Amino acid sequence: MTLFEREAQSFLSTYRRLPVEIVRGEGVYLYDAQGNAYLDFLGGVAVNALGYGHAGLQQAIAEQAARYIHISNYFIQQPQVELAEALKQITGYSRVFFCNSGTEATEGALKLVRKWGSANSRSHIVAMENSFHGRTMGALSLMTNPDYREGFGPFLDGCIAIPLNDVEALNRTVGPETAAVFFECIQGEGGVVEMSPAFAERLATLRRQFGFLLVADEVQSGIGRTGRFLASEHYGLTPDIVTLAKPLGGGLPLGAILVSQQLKDVLKPGNHGTTFGGNPVACAAGKVVLNEIVHNGVMENAASVGAYLLQQLKSLQCEFPALVKDVRGKGLMAGVELVTEGKPILDALLERKILINVTSKTVLRFLPPLIIRPTHVDQLCNALAAILPAISV
Ligand code: PLP
Repeated sequence: MTLFEREAQSFLSTYRRLPVEIVRGEGVYLYDAQGNAYLDFLGGVAVNALGYGHAGLQQAIAEQAARYIHISNYFIQQPQVELAEALKQITGYSRVFFCNSGTEATEGALKLVRKWGSANSRSHIVAMENSFHGRTMGALSLMTNPDYREGFGPFLDGCIAIPLNDVEALNRTVGPETAAVFFECIQGEGGVVEMSPAFAERLATLRRQFGFLLVADEVQSGIGRTGRFLASEHYGLTPDIVTLAKPLGGGLPLGAILVSQQLKDVLKPGNHGTTFGGNPVACAAGKVVLNEIVHNGVMENAASVGAYLLQQLKSLQCEFPALVKDVRGKGLMAGVELVTEGKPILDALLERKILINVTSKTVLRFLPPLIIRPTHVDQLCNALAAILPAISV
């Protein structure tokens, strides 16, 4: 039996796997057992910011693993403290809570909002249609896409979704009973859809008027991917709570909730916690990730190569206007919306040994390691230029 056949007999069928078996990675390439190199514009779904085989990351993981791998949150742990200090220093937030994943960061943020809301008589939570905050019940309660929600209700009370960028709906929905507004500045799974400047401005104004909390889900857009540390910075927003995960642990499971000064004492001892959250090996990796991204030019690379990627994708849109509806994104979080399904293009790129991903059925999404170079962008765009003429609309 092949590994694929064995997998089918042993796993719940929740994943549609790509028909490639990867055995190792190096830089921005993944390799199969036959030695074929795949150029990676998927990046472990926005996780592998430093690419593969980063020596400093491997060393930090090995050194911490040799000291201790887990001791529990009953103990103070140096890698956790140092990573929290680095996050505070970079972002200006007041406190950090570490968890293991994006959806756990959403759950923790929701609990914090509920606790704050109950002390301030605010029970409504507003979120955006078409958003993605994770797969757990709280996260699903904020979302609207039936692909993720159908059959899993009932959901949390008091969650209201409005269309992103609908200023009128925002005006109508928020008020003194609003505890928080959850949003992604760039909806990732939703198809790389950006918040409009008008919506961001109105959100900031209404928050000043009503005093609700802004919760930015930066699980996919954060930690330098868009060319700034947080995508909210592009939109002039200073959220009260920020959720992070994906690249934070350098490929090890690690999420974080960043909290502003006014919220630092909302959760008391015992109110929230986790066995594995803030695992010391993942935190040791996280220190290397932050250092490379913020202090060693990786974020600047994401900004400049990202601008080049968007420019080249826009040229393709000019070349194929009947097929390409829109090109969107910031930095190395880019999307190409087609008038047709994206799967045939994903397959054709895979044949040419380039890995991408399709979201919302019609959007080609590019989330490469933040260390890619312009030549890799050229390789992708040349392949797309060769593939697109054969795609019928
Ligand atoms: N929030 C956003 C914006 C995401 O893109 C994701 C995952 O894709 C999540 C939350 C959930 O993260 P995780 O899969 O680590 O639970």
